Amino acid sequence: MSFSFEVRENRKPAKKINLMGMPTEKVENFFAELGEKRFRATQILQWIHQKGVLDIESMTNFSKPLRRKLISMAEVRPPDIINCEESTDGTRKWLIQLNGGSCVEAVFIPERGRGTLCVSSQIGCALDCSFCATGKQGFNRDLSASEIIGQVWLASKSLGKFDQKPSQGITNVVMMGMGEPLMNFDNVVDALNIMLDDHGYGLSKRRVTLSTAGVIPAIDKLGDVSDVSLAISLHAPNDELRNELVPLNRKYSLGGLVSSAKRYLNKMPDNRRKITIEYTLIDNINDRSHHAHELADLLKELPCKINLIPFNPFYGTQYKRVTNFAMYRFRDILQQHGYTVTIRTTRGDDIAAACGQLAGQVNDKTRRQERYKQKFSDEQPVRIIL
Ligand code: SAH
Repeated sequence: MSFSFEVRENRKPAKKINLMGMPTEKVENFFAELGEKRFRATQILQWIHQKGVLDIESMTNFSKPLRRKLISMAEVRPPDIINCEESTDGTRKWLIQLNGGSCVEAVFIPERGRGTLCVSSQIGCALDCSFCATGKQGFNRDLSASEIIGQVWLASKSLGKFDQKPSQGITNVVMMGMGEPLMNFDNVVDALNIMLDDHGYGLSKRRVTLSTAGVIPAIDKLGDVSDVSLAISLHAPNDELRNELVPLNRKYSLGGLVSSAKRYLNKMPDNRRKITIEYTLIDNINDRSHHAHELADLLKELPCKINLIPFNPFYGTQYKRVTNFAMYRFRDILQQHGYTVTIRTTRGDDIAAACGQLAGQVNDKTRRQERYKQKFSDEQPVRIIL
């Protein structure tokens, strides 16, 4: 009697490793495990982030067998752009689709002598700050390192960097898009490392800014592994008001937050570094003279500069933009106390690309989006006037 065996492979093929989001150190380890030389890592980074090459077959300084081995286990895959809008002021916004169907947005803001890319770190945001459109979208998941650096890659490609076209490129990156970057720590740090790496995007640490609503333990951890510029979304000079605007404050309150910012600066070898304090001015909520004096007092021992952001309204919000009068009064008071103050000009608002307007398409897992829409429709029936 003879038996014939049919060998059936029921296992799915192993998921390929995406090299897009791997910083040098991780690619080095990956190559070391393959028995290859570590310097291959810098070559991979150059192919991907400097030449824009995704096809491993075209990486011609690797031998054919090595390319074949790489192709069998790895890939280089950015997310997909599904829409690009350009504002009358030159601001560009990309809608980027991710695995699972949700979308995030990335925004490029060209200015004289510099081009700033605003990058997202999560699909939606779990923090639910009361004045932020992203929060109202609920939360789906963290972005992978490939999806974060993939935004920089896609924007670079779209701006012609890889064709050596003489167009305006990215000189600055701000982690100020959707999400709270410090709630997605490891992936964000990997992406930051690729931005700073000379074989990646080669950006200066002063030109890469991470903005946080104030996750104190993660600020401390960040200071141990990175020296990017830190921005803190403060928005209120006392705990009572900040609890209302930034619910995270109930866990990590202002005194502790200011101390953690000082600790962050103390870890920087260069003692001229400053924290950026972001303060969104909302009409009649946090824009009064006494708020400005209180803020000046709160920050008096922190080396910082203050960036005032006029509130950008979005669908359903009860808050209103600060008046110009109140905004300049606020700025003048802070300046009289000796602070350097800038006012963030609103860019790209005709394409809803301004701060806090980035909304993407979040497959919300928290039902917050639904509750918000419900609340809004209960309170203010939408009337269509023809
Ligand atoms: N979660 C991080 C990253 C988001 S950054 C953080 O909180 O810092 C987005 C910046 O724009 C933050 O300073 C945020 O507070 C501010 N912002 C959010 N909604 C806004 C709105 N509607 N108008 C103006 N600024 C807003």
